Amino acid sequence: MILPLMSMERPLWSQEPFNSPEWQSIDFPSNPPERKGQTNVWYKTLLPQGQWTDPVLYIYSVDLLVQVYFDGNKIYEFGQFDETGRGAFAGWPWHSIKLPEGFQGKPIYFRIFSDYSDIGLWGEVKVMEKPDLILFILSSSLKERIIFAFCVLIGILAFIFSLFQSHKQTYLYLTLFSFASAGMIIGESQASQLIYNAPMLWRYLAATSYFTLPIAISGLLYYWLANTSPAFRMLKWIRNVHIVFLVVALGLSLTEIIRLAHFYPVFDALFVLTLISMLVLIVPQHTKLDTTQKLIVCAYAVYSVFLLIDMAVAHGLIAWWRFPVSVGALLFSMTLVVISIVHFNQTQKALVDLTLSLEQKVIERTEKIQRYALREKERARLLALENKKMRALEQLVEQLHKCTELQEALQLLFKRLPALLKPLPATVRFNSVRDRMLPSTLTPQSILSFSIKVDDATDKSYVCAVIEIDESPLIHDDTINAISLFISRAADRIGITLSSIKLQEELQQLSYEDALTGLKNRRFFDELLKRESMVALRQGTPLSLLICDIDHFKQFNDRFGHEAGDMALKTLAECLLTHFRETDISCRYGGEEFVVVMPAASNEHAVRRAQQLILDVEKTPIEYLGQSIGTITLSIGIATWPETVDSPSLLLKHADTALYQAKQKGRNRVEHEICL
Ligand code: GH3
Ligand code: MG
Ligand code: MG
Repeated sequence: MILPLMSMERPLWSQEPFNSPEWQSIDFPSNPPERKGQTNVWYKTLLPQGQWTDPVLYIYSVDLLVQVYFDGNKIYEFGQFDETGRGAFAGWPWHSIKLPEGFQGKPIYFRIFSDYSDIGLWGEVKVMEKPDLILFILSSSLKERIIFAFCVLIGILAFIFSLFQSHKQTYLYLTLFSFASAGMIIGESQASQLIYNAPMLWRYLAATSYFTLPIAISGLLYYWLANTSPAFRMLKWIRNVHIVFLVVALGLSLTEIIRLAHFYPVFDALFVLTLISMLVLIVPQHTKLDTTQKLIVCAYAVYSVFLLIDMAVAHGLIAWWRFPVSVGALLFSMTLVVISIVHFNQTQKALVDLTLSLEQKVIERTEKIQRYALREKERARLLALENKKMRALEQLVEQLHKCTELQEALQLLFKRLPALLKPLPATVRFNSVRDRMLPSTLTPQSILSFSIKVDDATDKSYVCAVIEIDESPLIHDDTINAISLFISRAADRIGITLSSIKLQEELQQLSYEDALTGLKNRRFFDELLKRESMVALRQGTPLSLLICDIDHFKQFNDRFGHEAGDMALKTLAECLLTHFRETDISCRYGGEEFVVVMPAASNEHAVRRAQQLILDVEKTPIEYLGQSIGTITLSIGIATWPETVDSPSLLLKHADTALYQAKQKGRNRVEHEICL
């Protein structure tokens, strides 16, 4: 290879002989010595001897633009030279220069422009058969194409993982890294040019991908480590610097302000700085990384070594050789595959565990819902039952209110209460001594038993019945509570009703009773006489009426005092009660006058009884202050229906007249026939 002095002038080679001293021989035609900022250079070389059928000159790459001359004719041009011999960057393709016939042993000339760090032919340069060249390109880039496909696959997998796995960011950065590696490999691959001959397009793809690698890795490391130490915020800066660099490089080169090629040396410097910074940051903190993270960092470190070696080759720091930089990407991708498989297995296992625990949860939840549904159903049923029972209770209370006597009410309750409680889990125990007042302490103290208490006018109370809830483990607490509440209310309600009946009964008794003697009073007598008159008329049985009056009672009072008089009245009342049959009713008519109603008694029978009474009273001493103070006598008037009066309504009047006559006739006697 012979190099002329840097020149933009019309080439001297056309005039100078091949061995002219103006030409200098060099080892490698991309770095001429004493370049001194020159941007143009001419190369010439002798083409080899040999036999070819379709010969081409294959050149791996040229920095940057080239024109090829043979026999004074331009046989090849890459890029566009302007009038000053300069031109825009057009990419770094490989070149296949068709050689004319008879080229063997003849010189060939290259006119080259470059404002890049290198100027000249770069990499492999050889004369080949054209089909051999294509086969050579295909076979030499086969490895890259396989690795490219592999990286794309890993990128897709990482992206899918990012959609389903929890560490979304991690997988997104790994996706970016894998696609960047793939882009760089395919952009740099010589085979791409065979697929589509657009050097700048492939160059932009390669550059963009290459510049993206540190963005992905610094972003990933920042995401992992930002929380562990403030020092790692630096990683964010590194990532951002690379993003800015990428944007500026693409922006300025696409707008042709700065050529894309010029960003390569800058990026390489930045890349080295980034690697050093990362090394300084990560190595002391490596304990904070888990095994997966350590593996990825190591894989990236290995990949970086490959990139650095490639960089050293590109800058001519070490002699050119086809350095397999894609192997670095392959190693990195393989690491991701291994990690992904491990993660996949872990995820699968976690999924199986999760499925099992979910199934367990579903079973538990279903059981809970079933229990809840049953409880609700039971509650609804209970509510309906409670409403029904409430209505029945109202009816029972209504019927109880109709009873005039407590005894009658208790009988009704005895008959109806068990039916009211059915089918609640409750049993009733009635107090067998229902007619006696018993202390309420007889009531069991259990919270599940309720007593029906009856209070009387003197505030004494007794328990007439006890309702107990039958405890069952099958009955839920809520149900027990609802039943308890209903029964407690029912017991109170019935108790109040019975107490009111009892009170009413007592009051009734008080209003018909004579307080001094305990006999029925005149009001009672009036009603009694009416009722018995009706019975007598209806049944046609006789009815006798006696009116008894104490003789000279005023004198008795005057002599012994009013209290002694009261004792006399009480003594007479006792005589009346013991003397007559149970069916005959004695009443105090007023003052010292008494009446005896004798249903179904004939006049004769009544007279006989009255005479016997007069004899009894006469013999009965009146006791006062522990001593006898004498006796009293009675005058009695009798009337009998139908023997002495035509109508029962005349009984009182006729008996009174008969009494008057008894008084008239000297007292202490019985009169029954009216003497007009
Ligand atoms: P006669 O033989 O005519 O019936 O004479 P008498 O004195 O019994 O009749 P009178 O009607 O003159 O007097 C009735 C007396 O009865 C007057 C009254 O003081 C007395 N008396 C009426 N009620 C009571 C009472 O509740 N207690 C007492 N101690 N005396 C009474
Ligand atoms: Mg009188
Ligand atoms: Mg009298």
